[in-house]
Amino acid sequence: MTATSHSHNQGEDRLRWKLLLKKALCYAKSIVALAAAFAMLLGVGCQGRAPAQFDGHKAYEHVLAQVAFGPRPVGSEALGKTADYIESCLKAAGWVPSRVEGEYRGVPIRNVVAEKEPGGRKGKILIGAHYDTRPAADRDSDASRRGEPILGANDGASGVAVLLELARVFDPARSAYEVVLAFFDGEDRGGIDGWPFSVGADIVAERLGRGLSAMILVDMVGDADLQIYLEGNSDPQLAAEIWNVARRLGLGDRFVPEVRYTLVDDHVPFLRRGVPSVDIIDFDYPYWHTTADTADKVSATSLEIVGRVLLEYLYTR
Ligand SMILES: [Zn+2]
Repeated sequence: MTATSHSHNQGEDRLRWKLLLKKALCYAKSIVALAAAFAMLLGVGCQGRAPAQFDGHKAYEHVLAQVAFGPRPVGSEALGKTADYIESCLKAAGWVPSRVEGEYRGVPIRNVVAEKEPGGRKGKILIGAHYDTRPAADRDSDASRRGEPILGANDGASGVAVLLELARVFDPARSAYEVVLAFFDGEDRGGIDGWPFSVGADIVAERLGRGLSAMILVDMVGDADLQIYLEGNSDPQLAAEIWNVARRLGLGDRFVPEVRYTLVDDHVPFLRRGVPSVDIIDFDYPYWHTTADTADKVSATSLEIVGRVLLEYLYTR
């Protein structure tokens, strides 16, 4: 009995040990699994595998930063500060900026261009915006203010803002094309003192135009009431591709596939050199070339709509 009971006890002990060991193994397995899951999470976070999203609010911050420099007409100190700002943002996002410079009537013209990773398989696409602002509000309703320089929150800063946020989120690995970002000087003195439009873009087109598959201009894209019609000088096929991307994204009411205006803008110097080019512009903007073109007229949502369309186009072309 004792022995039996002893042997019985021995059997129970063995069973208990077995169960304990099983339990311990089970815990160990759970710990290993948890650790693995945690490491995976950490890994994803560090490598940033989730694709970055174009953030309209971040773009809007770039509008505020530019406007804070004051009016930024060609040749001004504020324009130089804006160029420095653009270059520092580009560098922070891993791009390599350089200057494409020239001179017009003794005034220095400083364009900023930037590339990230060379080697797009299918070619090169340039995305541009002017960063100078009009030296005179010649369309202001108040005639006494028509000599004042404009702040250009929409006409100037909005296009630059979209390009800078694009620079932050664009992943070269996801595009078959190499992207060049261009910030044009000397656009908006056109028609004043005999200056033409697009003095800066003309220099860039002369220097880089021949190697481009396409050129996309972004101008006046911050209006809260955003409706971007096709522009009459733009390459119809390239425009159709971009407007189709917008439709696919459910933004067909913002990118309206009808020609409304035909404009002389920074895409013209590229068109003249045979580069298929398009002007993405919302020209129905009541504050155009007035002192009321201020940051409160610019919408983060509108900037984001344009940025999303551009990004999707670059990833799917
Ligand atoms: Zn303008």
